[in-house]
Amino acid sequence: MKKIYSLILTAILSISLFAQAPQSWTSADIYLAIKKLNVLGSVLYIAAHPDDENTGLITYLSKDRLYRTGYLSMTRGDGGQNLIGDEQGIDLGLIRTQELLAARRIDGGEQFFTRAFDFGFSKNPEETFTKWDKEKILSDVVWVIRKFQPDIIITRFPTTGEGGHGHHTASAILANEAFAAAADPTRFADQLKYVQPWQVKRVLWNTFNFGGTNTQSDTQYKLDVGGYNPLLGKSYGEIAAESRSQHKSQGFGVPAGRGESIQFFTATKGDQPRNDLMEGIDISWKKINGGDAIEKMVNDISASFDFLHPENSVKGLVQLYKALNAMPAGYWKNKKLDETKQLIEQCSGLWLDVFTTEQFAVQTDSIRLNFQFNNRLGVNAT
Ligand SMILES: [Zn+2]
Repeated sequence: MKKIYSLILTAILSISLFAQAPQSWTSADIYLAIKKLNVLGSVLYIAAHPDDENTGLITYLSKDRLYRTGYLSMTRGDGGQNLIGDEQGIDLGLIRTQELLAARRIDGGEQFFTRAFDFGFSKNPEETFTKWDKEKILSDVVWVIRKFQPDIIITRFPTTGEGGHGHHTASAILANEAFAAAADPTRFADQLKYVQPWQVKRVLWNTFNFGGTNTQSDTQYKLDVGGYNPLLGKSYGEIAAESRSQHKSQGFGVPAGRGESIQFFTATKGDQPRNDLMEGIDISWKKINGGDAIEKMVNDISASFDFLHPENSVKGLVQLYKALNAMPAGYWKNKKLDETKQLIEQCSGLWLDVFTTEQFAVQTDSIRLNFQFNNRLGVNAT
């Protein structure tokens, strides 16, 4: 028995100990991340399946507007077709989960799911809710909203059925119901041990013109998400195509877009924006007590950033970290502390790595670990 246990452990270790090369950012990535320190806005996109999300919009919001941007997919796509392997059902859901995570690493979004199972095609939301426990899935949506605290939610589909698939319409119904439920302390009150109620400012439906259905109109708010980012050397449409092409099990390969890409939005909760998605929402440090001083520190770090010597920004970033740390507890304090910490690491150019030349390790055995520390930019790291 003990031998079998050891074999299993060896197998687990050999699977989970893949080397992970630490990622170093370019100075352009660092500069964008410094700019992002002064952006306190967030958007949550909601739909039903892996591939429903508008990757172009997510890329633009995350890389141009520098918002915290997330995609909440109700399901993991367990019920779809697999064009490149035999996996079906839950196994396919695992593959699609990884494909979505790979897409988000490219477009800069964050990925969330509910517990809803993709049981295959569904004609309408009534049928969908006979298979999904609506209260349970709504509680998952509310949980993500209370954790993520988005300023606005954008749905891919409407509640009225033009999205076709029952899961699509159900995802919009849940997003719109979650608008009130997430703000209501009497709904899913057991979550309040960990999170606070959260009032989203507006829910927008990102209308579409595909599959023979055109739900766009000139009265809706329009936004061009097809810009070019010279710091990244790419159009948002190019980055989006790379991201979308991660849906390999669905055989996706999307051509890169480099021109204008107009998106349409209509409010289903809250007021209709006229000039900007974030209209009427403060996305600056001004909404936080003592935030003015932080904004100024970030502006100074940004203005003095030297693309050839990012290590010169470490001192300012460490001061910023201390100033953030001294602020009262809060959501943006924590987010910006994390971002600043990552920037300090990246600006320092430090390389720290631990590796071993032994392929297998068994519990109670000893192995030799090699520790490598390289101060590549000569930053004062004491
Ligand atoms: Zn779908």
